[in-house]
Amino acid sequence: MTKLLLVDCDGTIRKPASRAKFISRPTDQKIISGADKAVFSYYDQGFTIIGVTNQGGVEKGYKTLQNTIDEQVYTLRLFPQIKYIFFCPDYAGMLLYKVCLKSDGYDFDVFNRQNFIDLNTNELVYDSFRKPGSGMLKMAIDSLDDYPSEVLFVGDSPEDEAAAVGAAVDFIWASVWRQQFL
Ligand SMILES: [Mg+2]
Repeated sequence: MTKLLLVDCDGTIRKPASRAKFISRPTDQKIISGADKAVFSYYDQGFTIIGVTNQGGVEKGYKTLQNTIDEQVYTLRLFPQIKYIFFCPDYAGMLLYKVCLKSDGYDFDVFNRQNFIDLNTNELVYDSFRKPGSGMLKMAIDSLDDYPSEVLFVGDSPEDEAAAVGAAVDFIWASVWRQQFL
């Protein structure tokens, strides 16, 4: 049975390497102490690991879409146990990018929430892709071949906790999660 660990990125597993408040250059990032061991431990226990991150800085113009894709590629190289990373670039939570590494570089897909319609109710299947909406977490779960028997989301903000509640998955605070591995 598949077990899934969803990880928020900023403030949970990575932070700027410089004194900048946010990552705006793709390589300006470093692993938060304990996060590498924590990710490896879950991987070792058989969890599939997927990153989920709000990237409203794209809509705000703080970073380009390409920079944001490159930033996730850099994170995936820092954490080879993470299968791929989803990010939501817009405040309306309509778009979702999925970035994964390839042997010859990287690849990405783009999803639009308007394209997922429940044919019975005629309503959108997913809540906003931007946390605290639950859409990104649910898309991550649905990206697996099998429905996971266990899902845990680790994050560092109230928006993360609210997204976990909306998606009906277990939540753990990043500081507590990392502390076990310091
Ligand atoms: Mg965060």
